[in-house]
Amino acid sequence: MKILVINSGSSSIKFRLVESSSGEAIASGLLERIGLEQGRMEYRVRNGDKNVIEKPIPNHRTGLEMLLEMLVDPAAGALASLGEIGAVGHRVVHGGEKFTDSVAIGPEVIAKLEECSAMAPLHNPPNLLGIRASMDALPGVPNVAVFDTAFHQTMPPVAYVYPLPWSVYEEKRMRRYGFHGTSHQYVAMQTARILGRPLEDLCLVVCHLGNGSSITAVKDGRSVDTSLGYGTMCGVMMGTRSGDVDPAILLDLIENHGMTVSEVKDMVYKRSGLLGVSGVSSDMRDVEAAAAAGNERAALALDLFADKVRKHIGAYAVTMGRLDAIAFTAGIGENGPEMRGMICRGLEVLGARIDPEANRVRGVEKVISAKDSRVSILVVPTNEELMIARETERVLSKEGKPGARP
Ligand code: ADP
Repeated sequence: MKILVINSGSSSIKFRLVESSSGEAIASGLLERIGLEQGRMEYRVRNGDKNVIEKPIPNHRTGLEMLLEMLVDPAAGALASLGEIGAVGHRVVHGGEKFTDSVAIGPEVIAKLEECSAMAPLHNPPNLLGIRASMDALPGVPNVAVFDTAFHQTMPPVAYVYPLPWSVYEEKRMRRYGFHGTSHQYVAMQTARILGRPLEDLCLVVCHLGNGSSITAVKDGRSVDTSLGYGTMCGVMMGTRSGDVDPAILLDLIENHGMTVSEVKDMVYKRSGLLGVSGVSSDMRDVEAAAAAGNERAALALDLFADKVRKHIGAYAVTMGRLDAIAFTAGIGENGPEMRGMICRGLEVLGARIDPEANRVRGVEKVISAKDSRVSILVVPTNEELMIARETERVLSKEGKPGARP
């Protein structure tokens, strides 16, 4: 089935048209600057050249129409008719506790999604804009929501409850939710496939290391703990986000150092992490280059980054009672052999030894552990769009809705 996968942000729509059986990306691209004076769409069909169209895109609905027109353009398009699109899969950031699985979208689901918006005010409302635009532009084509949080809904209370007064959880539903779930699930499944072992028999740690990073413990195919929580600034250190810090510092900055709540928020989300410590950049490549040139704060930022990830791997091995594999994914995990090497230094205590030669690899699936390593270490490029397409197809076939048209 051909599935249009949409990731709708406040002023952008990322898309990919996926053939779910083969995983092939038939077309992909990005619409940006929606609602601004000059909009921009870039797209490519299969592995062809990148095309760019610049014109105003007043709203998500016109953006989606532009994208659909492009898909059936006789010269530059990918489809003979829009009837070939069997379904639309939407990335939705926050499903709260209401959504434990991907779901076909109808009026009731939209109402529940609106209720979840308060928890992800930056992400869910634009996701809903994309859903509404797609329902308008492709009437009769089923839409499915795939949540970043759903994979983590299998966590036990010991992983998701914060030791605060019970009312914080019971009344406000403030708990660990976790994010990047689609990526963690995809990478866990691929890891099992590469190792030739059933996912249900494995204890894995998946390290999704990008600008935003999170680590997940996957036992028997289920998320049992993850490093992002109620929000997206905790856990390991990231590009501009701090990860875990002592909340006393934040309170003290507000109480005694004249900072406002929004300044502190801006600090921990946008001015911390690699950028904050190094003072150089939030981009791992820049920080690595600065450290190599002798910048000590950049070198410390790299040490901190590796330390936080390594500690999570160790903690999760204990949580699961066993460790069979560690998988690295996302921008840094897939493309950063130096950082992978630094993280693995010290993991020998868990029986995990990296092969420095095999580790010299970027952006491809590969086992990078030494032959005598008890724990397998892998690079597994993530593919959230393919996972969303597969989820969309699974949900529709479960509900007996095979997609819109043949
Ligand atoms: P996002 O969370 O925005 O999706 P990505 O998964 O694209 O982020 O990851 C971005 C990070 O990947 C950046 O820190 C970037 O420096 C890093 N990265 C990309 N290529 C390399 C590379 N060749 N070596 C080291 N880091 C890399």
